[in-house]
Amino acid sequence: MITLKTVKRMEASKRIRRLAALLALLFFVFAGGQIAAQNGALPKVEFEKYTLANGLQVILHVDRKLPMVHVNQWFHAGSKNEKPGRTGFAHLFEHMMFQGSKNAPGEYVSYVENAGANIFEGGVNGTTNNDRTNYFVTVPSANLELILWLESDRLATLPEALTQVKLDNQRDVVKNERRQGLENQPYGRAALPGAVQQITRADVAKFHETYWKPGSSALIFVGEVTLAEATELAKRALGDWSGGAAQQFEAHGRIARQIAELWAAGLPMSELQKENDETEKATLAAVNASAQKYAAPNQSTLLLVGDLSKIEAGIRELNLGEVVILNTEGKPAGKK
Ligand SMILES: [Zn+2]
Repeated sequence: MITLKTVKRMEASKRIRRLAALLALLFFVFAGGQIAAQNGALPKVEFEKYTLANGLQVILHVDRKLPMVHVNQWFHAGSKNEKPGRTGFAHLFEHMMFQGSKNAPGEYVSYVENAGANIFEGGVNGTTNNDRTNYFVTVPSANLELILWLESDRLATLPEALTQVKLDNQRDVVKNERRQGLENQPYGRAALPGAVQQITRADVAKFHETYWKPGSSALIFVGEVTLAEATELAKRALGDWSGGAAQQFEAHGRIARQIAELWAAGLPMSELQKENDETEKATLAAVNASAQKYAAPNQSTLLLVGDLSKIEAGIRELNLGEVVILNTEGKPAGKK
């Protein structure tokens, strides 16, 4: 997620809206979930798909309600692909994609704002989690070609355009987002401020070269555009992007680090600082032994949000311990 000066307001309003959406979802789950289950399947989203010769997938959902298109590019790389001692890397990399490219210098956001994106209403941003990174914009459909050109330019020229000043600046922003809790999400991708500080320009260039590959990416369009138009534009802008699929190295060391991060959540910072060294040394047998010792059901709380009618029987069957059912206000709900 980017927090440029100009988009700070957006962050706050987005978090409030997200909370509202979550509350609405909880209400639906607890008050209306049974109605949905009775009426049958979820609404079906129709989509079309085309794969370019270089492996880039183009996925399209046509919606002609407005002359707008949402473009969302996904990469199958996230914090799971960080090297030990480089936590926060994927998030930092996400930020670097907004710092301008060779032929579009300055802030990426200013170009898409000029192309009609509403930056205060979520019209442009990016997100990173353990599995993937995505970048999105929503603009008038007439400006799609410009958006794809910007996309191809930042994909092709990121290492070239990356200056030390930009890197230093974004390292501070990422550390700040961590302090503000923007990164404090489930799925354990906590970054150590010290680790973010150590990241170099060469590290960023290497990550880009290794993981930003067409065969590990999907370009999604939703809005007033046809598959023929979208694939033609994608071919023109990104057809020359070569490299196949990204390398994957989800070795047990990476997975062990993720487990360590999850279980370290309640420990003091001094313990967190030791984590990377310990992870480097960890063998698979040691990870298994640790998991058996600490990841015990009676020492954990499993939080599930969903359709009670579909979840309850299954979770009780697992016999993990006490099952507490709460309503949207966090108060115990009466059993149905
Ligand atoms: Zn961010």
